[in-house]
Amino acid sequence: MRSRASPDLKGAVEAFRSSLAGDVQIDVPLARFTTYRIGGPAAVLVEPASPNDVAAALEICVDYGLPWVALGFGSNVLVADAGYDGVVIRIGKYLKHVEAESKEAGLWSVGAGLPTPRLARLSAEAGWSGVQRLIGVPGTIGGGVYMNAGAHGQDFGQVVRRIDLVRLGGGRETIGADALPWHYRDAGIRDAIVVGCSMQLARAPVLELKEDIRKHFRWRQRGTPFNEPCCGSVFRNPNRPIAGERRTAGQLIDAAGLKGYTQGGAQVSTKHANYIVNIGHSTAADVRRVIDTVRERVRRRFDVDLRLEVQMVGGEVGGAAD
Ligand SMILES: Cc1cc2nc3c(=O)[nH]c(=O)nc-3n(C[C@H](O)[C@H](O)[C@H](O)COP(=O)(O)OP(=O)(O)OC[C@H]3O[C@@H](n4cnc5c(N)ncnc54)[C@H](O)[C@@H]3O)c2cc1C
Repeated sequence: MRSRASPDLKGAVEAFRSSLAGDVQIDVPLARFTTYRIGGPAAVLVEPASPNDVAAALEICVDYGLPWVALGFGSNVLVADAGYDGVVIRIGKYLKHVEAESKEAGLWSVGAGLPTPRLARLSAEAGWSGVQRLIGVPGTIGGGVYMNAGAHGQDFGQVVRRIDLVRLGGGRETIGADALPWHYRDAGIRDAIVVGCSMQLARAPVLELKEDIRKHFRWRQRGTPFNEPCCGSVFRNPNRPIAGERRTAGQLIDAAGLKGYTQGGAQVSTKHANYIVNIGHSTAADVRRVIDTVRERVRRRFDVDLRLEVQMVGGEVGGAAD
């Protein structure tokens, strides 16, 4: 592990501070930047103030050979207890613009740092449909595009038309949405940071949209541990029928008798079995132990390998999402 005070890191921090308008901090506990409220420190946390800052930050990471990871609202990550020995580039404080590019065509230009629920509400209040059901997806637009987040029949892949990104080693670029594969919960973006996008929404009556928001938000509050520290669904839904039936990951975990299963401070939610909640002082290792048991029991009972939706940040929690 690189020492936090190593010369390459010190040089990089100086370079970040002299090149970026945004914020640069060292040795920053990440727990407060995640909805799980779990995670050790980042060696460096950079909060770029503009797309050019993002480009400069990535360039410095390349120059100094530092690992980096993008972070939005931290609502779909499990950060290792040991933290992240590299540069966390957080897009969530700045880059929050939202404006109509073309009212006739329903094109909206949105910054990657804007909270998705805020876009859901703003667009509904202005009479535009397409993202209102994402009201309960508590991440940023950048994280939503990256994850192809979705809920209740709407997802980012349906509405995004262009993506502004900064590519590792390649600078700023705008790509058409059709340049990406848009898998379920994975748009297919690699080695790049989303800084904004253009979305196509459709005209709809404001009252209908507000009712849609109310209905889906109520479902969230009743059917999920929405106000508890968690990361939403931990596992992706299986992509094939199980014993001839379409079943969600939550249904399989529930049927395996795991609701309420607890290790340390981590528990399979009693409200929704695909959520693992931090019931108090949970570590990432506690969550990982619950994940491993859930997978093992579901595999034994249904012969299904549940794949992770939550993204692992930092080494000892298991590396890349599998
Ligand atoms: C209570 C709750 C309910 C949820 N419900 C849903 C749901 O219904 N549907 C759903 O799909 N998800 C849901 N989620 C998960 C999560 O909110 C979404 O995946 C969200 O879009 C993640 O956005 P974020 O900004 O929090 O990303 P983060 O959690 O910060 O990051 C997630 C991944 O995206 C990458 N990333 C983040 N920002 C960028 C960027 N600008 N450029 C490139 N990569 C980036 C990160 O490196 C990481 O791999 C829920 C989470 C919670 C806590």
